[in-house]
Amino acid sequence: MQFRDLKAQYIYNQKNIDSAIYHTLSSSIFIGGEEVRELERTLADYVGTKHCITCANGTDALQLALMAWDIGPGDAVFVPDFTFFSSGEVVSAVGATPVFVDVDPYTYNLSPDSLRKTLVSIKNETALRTRAVIAVDLYGLPANYTEIREICDCHDLLLLEDAAQGLGGSLGNKMAASFGDIGTTSFFPAKPFGCYGDGGAIFTDDDNWASLIRSYAVHGKGSNKYDNVRIGMNSRLDAIQAAVLSSKLPIFIHEEIDKVNKMAALYDANLQDLSEEANLHIPVIPDGYRSSWAQYTIQLPVGANRRALQNELQMKDIPTMVYYPIPMHAQAAFQSACLQAKSLNCTECLCKTVLSLPIGPYMTEDDVLLVCNSLNESITRI
Ligand SMILES: *Cc1c(COP(=O)(O)O)cnc(C)c1O
Repeated sequence: MQFRDLKAQYIYNQKNIDSAIYHTLSSSIFIGGEEVRELERTLADYVGTKHCITCANGTDALQLALMAWDIGPGDAVFVPDFTFFSSGEVVSAVGATPVFVDVDPYTYNLSPDSLRKTLVSIKNETALRTRAVIAVDLYGLPANYTEIREICDCHDLLLLEDAAQGLGGSLGNKMAASFGDIGTTSFFPAKPFGCYGDGGAIFTDDDNWASLIRSYAVHGKGSNKYDNVRIGMNSRLDAIQAAVLSSKLPIFIHEEIDKVNKMAALYDANLQDLSEEANLHIPVIPDGYRSSWAQYTIQLPVGANRRALQNELQMKDIPTMVYYPIPMHAQAAFQSACLQAKSLNCTECLCKTVLSLPIGPYMTEDDVLLVCNSLNESITRI
């Protein structure tokens, strides 16, 4: 069984994707060009922002947003303690200080309560300027933007939405990547909307930030790329990746998000009993939210032998992953270079108990049932 079946996705879309790639090859425009511009227009339209700027990957997308906001040394940026490394790495990369905040034990997303408390202590106890919050749509579920937005407005903080895993999700009638002052995503192949290499994008309504980001992404260009007015980077989406994404977008919007939600619902239904009997937590999607299911992540009972369970499942050809085993504040790279909330209990517990199961729009119902039955058999033994 595949953890996320990219091959089945390719075979399903092969005609469209192959012809899009060949079309780009015969045009011989490989970087930039109409293919990339067209994708940016369609994506901005889908997400519901005025601008979409594509770039080389989801990490650059986050960093470009921080550069546009001129965030650097002396600035504090709040980041969930439970996320992929990039969300915090970019803060240090621009010379600012990441402040790690705890997450909600049920949604796994940034806890507004922990954010409020940590904000007060950073303001009282340090000389740092509090500048921004990076909220992550972890596993595909949009963060609690109602409360986070309120906190940001109240404390004059910029909100950066890391929707690398979130594209395709929604809250009310708004799409993921549109909740931040700037939103970003990744097109890494295994993300909900992936290409066949690296890629990323930035979304915003703000004209000034959009043009700064276009400049920073191409060597700090001014009126043209040989007129360099600021120190930037080289971060572009290539035309072949844009062609792959454009050819996959209609199916992503109209089929894949529904299909993956069906598979998640099937997991929910079949793990319901186990969650009551064995104290196993299944993902919580609050009212009004829709997840794009980058991952289907359960929490094992505290003390369960996760490694042994993974081995048993692997023997039945069921791959599982631990996203993420180490809290951000405990990563070696951040030692002495980060600050943190007074309590990070939820993150610490999640790092020991989470387990991500295979999921994807091309997973079959039989495979979901096989995973559930195997979990059922193994969980009592571990
Ligand atoms: C994957 C990911 C990124 C980085 O995306 P890349 O395209 O791999 O650079 C950033 N944040 C989160 C939450 C991610 O999952």
